[in-house]
Amino acid sequence: MKLTTNIKPKIGLWKFLPKIISTKTAQCIYPFIFLPEDIYKDLISLTPKPESVAVLLHEKVHLERQKRKGIILWIILYIISPKFRLNEELLAFKEQIKYLKKLNLTLDLELRAKRLSSWLYLWCISYKKALLELKKL
Ligand SMILES: [Zn+2]
Repeated sequence: MKLTTNIKPKIGLWKFLPKIISTKTAQCIYPFIFLPEDIYKDLISLTPKPESVAVLLHEKVHLERQKRKGIILWIILYIISPKFRLNEELLAFKEQIKYLKKLNLTLDLELRAKRLSSWLYLWCISYKKALLELKKL
């Protein structure tokens, strides 16, 4: 699959961050999307895994919303408001799940709920509530 130049693998400085951030999670900071190296490599291959495409779709939701709101305001709200943060993630997970569902695939919701309720997302919600919200998508 051909990727646009704003989509980058997490190499270089990313390696200095906790391993879970550099190797397991993607980030969108408008106009860029940063992907774990293995997902990036899979996406530029001839037959990318649906799971990798789904991650890209998740980040593209963030990209679009950051563009619309303005990146600075989006980041400020994302940091200060757990409600905003949760809503942005749920919107992105919705796209990710929708894509996977069409292919009869699922997303590990327990893992996502665990992450959403952890430091990774600045504890925006409890595990139980996160799982409930993700199941509604
Ligand atoms: Zn996200």
